[in-house]
Amino acid sequence: MGIPWKHDPPENGSCQFCGKVLEPQGIVFEGVVLLWQPFLPRCDCDQAKAYWEKYDREEAAKRVAAKEKARRKAMQEKVNRLLGESGIKKRFQQRTFQNFLRNTPEQERNYQIAKDYADTFHVHCKRGDGLYIEGTNGTGKTHLAAAIALQLIGEGIPVICKTSGDLLKDIKKSFDTDGVREYEVLEVYQKVDLLIIDDLGKEQCTDWGMSTLYSILNDRYEDMKPTIITTNYNTKSLVKVLTPKGMDGSKIIAIISRLRETSTIMTMAWQDWRSDGKRGGKT
Ligand SMILES: [Zn+2]
Repeated sequence: MGIPWKHDPPENGSCQFCGKVLEPQGIVFEGVVLLWQPFLPRCDCDQAKAYWEKYDREEAAKRVAAKEKARRKAMQEKVNRLLGESGIKKRFQQRTFQNFLRNTPEQERNYQIAKDYADTFHVHCKRGDGLYIEGTNGTGKTHLAAAIALQLIGEGIPVICKTSGDLLKDIKKSFDTDGVREYEVLEVYQKVDLLIIDDLGKEQCTDWGMSTLYSILNDRYEDMKPTIITTNYNTKSLVKVLTPKGMDGSKIIAIISRLRETSTIMTMAWQDWRSDGKRGGKT
């Protein structure tokens, strides 16, 4: 853009607060005005100063918001190009806050935690804190995670919602796909505003899978990016299922304890779930 050349000065005006006459100003060379400023100068009375301070602050905030909107749009386009539509499969697309059953005090409480999280995501986004939703099958863990994803996507916030198995499949696929580099896919997982890993522990992890998950979650932790986990396993069982056969589980223990440390923990389970670790039931 830049300032347009002005051959004619703007008309005189006066300060709307103190009435002082404001004369146009220009760049003067050898007594001749070469370029008139297109705007009248700002008055220096207290009221005008306060007005312009507020004006400048609001303009700066608008620029920040526009930049953030552009960043989100670019991230969402990247996610769509690399992964398709955020990984929210058809079966999750109907799982909204509106149709989550709230018949018991526990359901109501979990609903409130998830809804508050979605409603105040801008705060969680800054702090990098997520949700760790553990419990038995069929208690609505995935439903609440999907509802958060759907609400935020509706607000233009980039979200990826995948099972850990699908997440690893995407990265593996990127090894063989022309034009998509593995690091680009890894990067969207590491940088997306919210990553939701649904049903963590469902698939047995290979050594490669564990390292990859570790690297994604560790980078997000260090960057203070929020992650939401749902899992059917208690901590002890989750460490067990995620640790590849014959491998040391210390990395997995580190990931899980970091996730729990930075998350609100929601337990959605029948009574004896903590000791059993996992129980059957329909999803
Ligand atoms: Zn004034």
